[in-house]
Amino acid sequence: MTTYKEFHARSLKDRDAFWTEEAKRIDWHKPFAKVLDYSRPPFAKWFVGGETNLCHNAVDRHLAPRGEQKALVWISTEVDQEQSFTYRQLHAEVNRVAAMMQALGVGRGDRVIIYMPNMPEAVFAILACARIGAIHSVVFGGFAAASLAARIDDAKPSLMVTADGGSRMGKVVPYKPLVDESIRLSKFPPAKVLILKRGLDPSMPSVPERDVDWATLAKQHEGAKVPCAWLESSEPSYILYTSGTTGKPKGVQRDVGGHAVAMAASMQHIYCGGPGESIFTTSDIGWAVGHSYIIYGPLIAGMTTIIYEGVPVRPDAGVWWKIVQDHKVAVMFSAPTAIRVLKKHDIAWLKKYDLSTLKHLFLAGEPLDEPTHAWISQGLGKPVIDHYWQTETGWPVLTSAPGVEKTPIKFGSPSFPAYGYDLKLLRESDATVAGPDEKAVVVVEPPLPPGCMSTLWGDDERFVKTYFSMFPGKLLYATFDWGIRDKDGYYFILGRTDDVINVAGHRLGTREIEEAVNMHPGIAECAVVGVADQLKGQMPMAFAVLKDPAQVATPEGRMKMEGEVMQTVNQQLGAIGRPGRVFFVTLLPKTRSGKVLRRSIAALAEGRDPGDLTTIEDPGALQQIKDCLGVK
Ligand code: AMP
Repeated sequence: MTTYKEFHARSLKDRDAFWTEEAKRIDWHKPFAKVLDYSRPPFAKWFVGGETNLCHNAVDRHLAPRGEQKALVWISTEVDQEQSFTYRQLHAEVNRVAAMMQALGVGRGDRVIIYMPNMPEAVFAILACARIGAIHSVVFGGFAAASLAARIDDAKPSLMVTADGGSRMGKVVPYKPLVDESIRLSKFPPAKVLILKRGLDPSMPSVPERDVDWATLAKQHEGAKVPCAWLESSEPSYILYTSGTTGKPKGVQRDVGGHAVAMAASMQHIYCGGPGESIFTTSDIGWAVGHSYIIYGPLIAGMTTIIYEGVPVRPDAGVWWKIVQDHKVAVMFSAPTAIRVLKKHDIAWLKKYDLSTLKHLFLAGEPLDEPTHAWISQGLGKPVIDHYWQTETGWPVLTSAPGVEKTPIKFGSPSFPAYGYDLKLLRESDATVAGPDEKAVVVVEPPLPPGCMSTLWGDDERFVKTYFSMFPGKLLYATFDWGIRDKDGYYFILGRTDDVINVAGHRLGTREIEEAVNMHPGIAECAVVGVADQLKGQMPMAFAVLKDPAQVATPEGRMKMEGEVMQTVNQQLGAIGRPGRVFFVTLLPKTRSGKVLRRSIAALAEGRDPGDLTTIEDPGALQQIKDCLGVK
């Protein structure tokens, strides 16, 4: 038996042979001629010359061996509905939506924005894009019109697919007004908008010529057959926008062949999910986890994937475990925030249902604190695997890989570098290798393995500048995370090195939130920092300077203005970016060169030492922050 250490070492030393072996897990229409083309670092082209299709691998190839097996189960505790689709039914639905898209003029290489809640039709649309070689860009339903417009303008889609609304905690969230507003704001609006009417917003207005009713078009394409487009391995499969340190979101671009192979390999080595087994990933299709482990990974592996619309505590805190019991879930994937929410409820919920089919619970997206890791592991009596990855990588960077070896789990640690990743912990000052237990920057020696981002959509230069320029003269992929490795080789992630914060597993740039706050006409400037929060991991907190400070001279004035600013962020960015508090000051703490001292503000808000303040321009500014926070 191979140890994980040996397996990882082989993935790097014998890279081509390793990935040639893994590539056999998927179907190739045309075999690849070369495993890796790395002639233009850091751009890595995997499985060069090979032709394949993600939809074929996720759906068509399962028809013969498991056509009648459930492929997709949709459970909505929001609208109280449950629906299942066998691989054969999924195939028919995806073909139909592919035909609908073609009828709306979508072809290979065209972009399609999908702005939908977690529901089967969103999965059909995603797979239909993959089928015809269109590039999907799924936007999380919680984003507001301005954020959606920014993504439209970057991707220049020919079609947008949406629904009349979603639902959260039983309350309808209309999508259509937001979609209309985003199109009004955008410079490159899609020619057509395909709308699924769920009956959630009966008063929804329709724009003639542009808006197309899903049900009407679907009727016209009943029984349609659309062949898979065979794509060269490096062609783009999708774009997924993620936050960075600038206000402009980055369009992470994924390929076809590398992505398919990475998904298939991870289902085997990391998640241990095989054909006929069920997987329940509680994420949203709008995030990387949803793309990889609600849709592509599980379906490529021939599993039954459960897509859930709802929250973990409604109708009660046992709802997820009941799903595990009823659907014989073997693999589950969630986020630390959700577990922290469950932790506020009786631990008895974890014991109420029969969880005997469950092999592992995987958690990712944000740091998993030790007490929460211990609580859920003991409560379930199952291995709970913390693993670390990024939208950019599409699959884990640090993980335990029980499919290779069941290495012991250390609470609070995402274990070891995943196979294929040449991970390093380097000192920020001089890029030398850090010692055991020494805090350092987590970097990957390129080439990045298959499945990782191939570039940023339409901007190769930004890709190199953003991710490969942390250490001058050294081409290394920067994760922008701090980490340490203990003497046993276990890694721990300590948070971001940049101005990105993580709110309930959602990555947000503080700059992005600042730009949203600044949209309020009364604001002169502001600083947003992430502050530790027991439930959500981090919470944005804003400190704003008003054009007219007299507006907040009274407590009523302050409350009114705080409410208005929050409303502005809601409109610009969506509720996920809304600061927990907005404080008003007359100046911000800045260095003499004008850089806002965000780290010092965050430290004060968390009751820590603000650090070196020798460069501060006006110490009075920091005193104002202290006064707001009530610290001495
Ligand atoms: P996203 O691309 O939105 O999934 O965010 C990726 C970021 O989330 C990483 O760069 C980390 O800062 C954080 N993250 C993801 N998984 C973990 C984990 N298991 N432990 C600690 N931080 C994590």
